Amino acid sequence: MAFKLSIYPWVHSARFNGDGWDEEYIEQEHMTPEEENAMSEADHTALVNKRNNFPHLPLVNYTTQYGLGCFEGLKAFPQPDGSLKLFRPDRNCRRMASSMKGLMMPPIDEPLLLEGIVGTVRRNAGLGFAPSYDPEWEKDSWQSGGAVYIRPFAYSEPGIGINLSRAPWVITVCTTVSAYFTPGKNEAVTSERVRATPKGTGWIKAAANYVTSTLAKTEAIQAGFMEAIFLDAATHKNIEEGSSCNFFALFPGGKLVTPSLHDTILPGITRESVMKLAEERGLDVVERDLAVSEVLNDAVECFVTGTAAGITPLGSLTHQGQKGVFSSLKDDSLSMSLLRELKGIQYGAVEDRHGWMKDV
Ligand SMILES: *Cc1c(COP(=O)(O)O)cnc(C)c1O
Repeated sequence: MAFKLSIYPWVHSARFNGDGWDEEYIEQEHMTPEEENAMSEADHTALVNKRNNFPHLPLVNYTTQYGLGCFEGLKAFPQPDGSLKLFRPDRNCRRMASSMKGLMMPPIDEPLLLEGIVGTVRRNAGLGFAPSYDPEWEKDSWQSGGAVYIRPFAYSEPGIGINLSRAPWVITVCTTVSAYFTPGKNEAVTSERVRATPKGTGWIKAAANYVTSTLAKTEAIQAGFMEAIFLDAATHKNIEEGSSCNFFALFPGGKLVTPSLHDTILPGITRESVMKLAEERGLDVVERDLAVSEVLNDAVECFVTGTAAGITPLGSLTHQGQKGVFSSLKDDSLSMSLLRELKGIQYGAVEDRHGWMKDV
């Protein structure tokens, strides 16, 4: 995965004070991006490790001890005119507040977080920390395109007894990302593991959910696949989602099906956006239970969606030895066409008809 942990110098820190949120922007040790790129690997690692130290945060707390934390992931996309634009950051702020409520924490003030995200990206870009637009990316429909990845996360106050967080921080850091999945290696496999159970935390972007996801994804990769697909806990017959992405299947006649949202599925912003784009094309977009058997037997295309994954077409899905093969990766597929439209909107080549892009 093309995430290098190279946190940008400016960080936003918000903390609940019992009443409202105190905030500050913190500038950490840095040189110019050019100087940092010219550093030896060891020196650069040392500098980046220093930037990953947050001395105002306690080490022993409910997040590090019990996984009581949640986070967001969103991107700012470099535009051909040299500016940066965020994709639907208001939706991420709303989901962050909803996740925190789900973990019984005081929810972040949404406008404050949105301002903090914009302010952090802007300050970092002002120092030169942001990829710039490269017309080369157009050759593969921006699949190799770079972006600023923004990671707001909740972090609890000190504590060792099992407890809820009453005075959390919400820290926002940025780093550079490029493609998430290795292009051309788009085979998926169902996992025996259960990511989320009814009445659990599957609908929350909770840190703890990623334990099972990461185990399953690692097993899938070890078995030669790109991604693990989770089935429902009760029957193990219906597709829920990928390790960190939502699932879509296209059936003959233009019916596009994605599992309906309930408490075991993460309500993806990319999912919602792709549903809108597909509806506008006149496709019949349906949210319902989606049996793995019907996908294997009848689906013509499948893809997964998420901030990191974008739209990633799947070439096949394997379940208990049975393999369904799809035409998702063909140049004239719906998956590729939706990918080009979404990336086109994000990178400024396709008109932003819905007002999804926000200036930094
Ligand atoms: C974040 C996430 C997604 C994708 O959500 P987006 O808002 O599209 O980035 C899907 N599934 C899980 C489990 C996630 O954590």
